[in-house]
Amino acid sequence: IRRNPGEEEFHQAVREVLDSIRPALARHPEYAEAKIIERICEPERQVIFRVPWEDDRGEVHVNRGFRVEYNSALGPYKGGLRFHPSVYLGIVKFLGFEQIFKNALTGMPIGGGKGGADFDPKGRSDREVMRFCQSFMTELYRHIGEYTDVPAGDIGVGAREIGYLFGQYKRITNRYESGVLTGKGLAYGGAQVRREATGYGSVFFAEEMLRAAGDGLDGKRVVVSGSGNVAIYAIEKVQQFGGVVVACADSSGYVVDEKGIDVEVLKQIKEVQRGPIRDYAEARRHATFVPGRRVWEVPCEVALPCATQNEVSGADAATLVANGCIAVVEGANMPTTPDGIRVFTEAGVRFAPGKAANAGGVAASALEMQQNASRDSWTFTYSEQRLQQIMQDIHARCFETAEEYGMPGNYMAGANINGFLRVAEAMLVQGLI
Ligand code: NDP
Repeated sequence: IRRNPGEEEFHQAVREVLDSIRPALARHPEYAEAKIIERICEPERQVIFRVPWEDDRGEVHVNRGFRVEYNSALGPYKGGLRFHPSVYLGIVKFLGFEQIFKNALTGMPIGGGKGGADFDPKGRSDREVMRFCQSFMTELYRHIGEYTDVPAGDIGVGAREIGYLFGQYKRITNRYESGVLTGKGLAYGGAQVRREATGYGSVFFAEEMLRAAGDGLDGKRVVVSGSGNVAIYAIEKVQQFGGVVVACADSSGYVVDEKGIDVEVLKQIKEVQRGPIRDYAEARRHATFVPGRRVWEVPCEVALPCATQNEVSGADAATLVANGCIAVVEGANMPTTPDGIRVFTEAGVRFAPGKAANAGGVAASALEMQQNASRDSWTFTYSEQRLQQIMQDIHARCFETAEEYGMPGNYMAGANINGFLRVAEAMLVQGLI
């Protein structure tokens, strides 16, 4: 804490991992001797840079850009870019730290990194977003590359932003390096199912977790927070599994639709119009909009937090439990506070941590890199099968590791230990790096 002052989210993420890998460290004294923990907590490289840009009225703005290249033991740094006014070093580091173990859990050759800027794309025109992205890439380009560091999207960074970033990278470097970014549009090197992957993947994980308990999503009443990329495709997949998503949200409040959220209407509002969630209730007259409150007060059996960090407090968790929630699957990164996790654990709620449940996004990005490297493109069906298999494998790794360490059903311990062991082993054999 003294070494990284004021970085609360980072401390929270590190504490959670270190607490749960204790049993693994006890079995592997060689890691303590090699100071793996001290090394793994320190990013390999952190870049902070100025991003000046001009709005449509000619006014100049200055934002702060970040890229934390956290760990390359398993492969090139890999992780998204977040554009949100709350972004500062502590958030980028927490996300980068989580990313190391998540990427390891996928079983794919990717290291961990994360980046972004305190830029708020909300209310900005396409031209303004383009100018911001071009300025951001004008510094970022020198740090990234197919074999070095491969950014993708995250909050506030979707296909539009990736397109502008890619265009500027190409212009500066004079290289058509498809594999330098993932989440690209299908017209220029993007992969099928990447857009859907995080949401779909978390629901594949949810189904596996419920099945392991002799249950399933079919007929379940589900509540989702957020209505962005992860939330939309989680809702779509829950419905394909026969569940009913009765509520979803954004930062302004939530909507309840007892007939089940109409995902096409939601896509139109969020992906095309970029409007607030209130517009959903206007488009579907029987739905209601509840401003300024969290969606967790809507009774459900399965909760999917898909918006942002620390969006499920201890009190929210207690409400969910009291209303009969039996499973929580994190589509977002670290959405549940430590108090919330405690409440779920004590109540016996099945809990899938983000680094396992939302790993489908980065796994599909790794598949996009494979396709770019081989100048190939796979079909939607094949790509989705690959994604499902990867999520089943991740589930099995978490499940089995938790059993092996005497904590059956503890997916958080299973995920942290399994991811950690893979990275630690690679770091050990690569010498003092
Ligand atoms: P989007 O920007 O597409 O959507 C984010 C959603 O969350 C929006 O509905 C947004 O509402 C809401 N939200 C964001 N910040 C807040 C906040 N501070 N309080 C309340 N609501 C908020 O992002 P994604 O769907 O891509 O990302 C969602 C989560 O999933 C993040 O935690 C991200 O790190 C994680 N994730 C994303 C992956 C991906 O592939 N995209 C991969 C793995 C994890 P509003 O529009 O009103 O701000």
